[in-house]
Amino acid sequence: MCTSPPKWESPTNERTPPGRAPVKPLPLTHRAKKSLGQNFLHDRNVARKIVGELKVGPGDRVLEIGPGPGALTSLLLEAAPARLAVLEMDDNWSRELKRQWPELFVIQADALRFDWRRLRRQAGGPAPEDGPDGEGRGWKLIGNLPYNVASPIMWDAAATCPGLERAVFMIQKEVAQRLAAEPGTKAYGALGVWVQSFVHVRLAFTVPPTVFTPRPKVDSAVVVFTPRPEGENSFPARALDTLLKKCFQNRRKQIQGILRGCWSGDVAAVLERYGLGPASRPETLAPRAFQELANVLADVFEP
Ligand code: SAM
Repeated sequence: MCTSPPKWESPTNERTPPGRAPVKPLPLTHRAKKSLGQNFLHDRNVARKIVGELKVGPGDRVLEIGPGPGALTSLLLEAAPARLAVLEMDDNWSRELKRQWPELFVIQADALRFDWRRLRRQAGGPAPEDGPDGEGRGWKLIGNLPYNVASPIMWDAAATCPGLERAVFMIQKEVAQRLAAEPGTKAYGALGVWVQSFVHVRLAFTVPPTVFTPRPKVDSAVVVFTPRPEGENSFPARALDTLLKKCFQNRRKQIQGILRGCWSGDVAAVLERYGLGPASRPETLAPRAFQELANVLADVFEP
């Protein structure tokens, strides 16, 4: 099994655009809540590098997940996109953000329960650039995500955010490695296959625990998602979701055996199309092969 470490690209080093008034984050007036994964970023240079990766332009719509006291939000306000919305579960920080920056569209909600499709309507209503049906440009997502729930948030957002244009997330380094993992590696699993089926994942840079208050026990990393060209991969998402969960609960088992209980079709023939033998195990299949299997199994998993 190949365990070569992933390659980290060098960070971009963006500076505040000249002429924009600097905006400061809020003071840490509330105790960090462990249950909400609150490790607040206090290093301005790291925050600037993260926001730089989003490449915010004046016509963009941006949604930040988990703004807290606004380390990233303040820099997003400086970048002045057309729309800036934030999704924060903590009522203390939601209130403070609204009070400090009334121009910010604050959604107080749990990102785990958020229906990303609502973004089109919810974050400030239709924009002048929207068509009559409310369809317009997509969204850019950003967040220093709460590490305890980062994977399910990215799972949903990558698949269902309307017209996702770009996403930049700071997450636990080990989760970043899983997102970008290739078949046959130890880190390869359902999360990587799923997210890579919707977006390209780039590992941008790593971040040490010393830049957070309080300090987490693990290293962090920043990942960048960019959309795959439309129509590049066509597959039934629900079937892929079910298939991945079945397969990676049994990653060392042969795919034939895993599917025998739910499908009477010719798994070997599908695998052969991808040059894979009948004894293939989930950890060796590329995302494209899983998508093909999902197409074949759509009727079984999405009756
Ligand atoms: N963006 C800030 C920063 O960089 O310092 C805070 C990042 S902190 C790691 C995670 C933030 O996500 C916190 O503000 C926390 O309250 C919020 N959060 C935690 N769980 C959440 C959830 N399920 N939905 C929305 N926000 C959540």
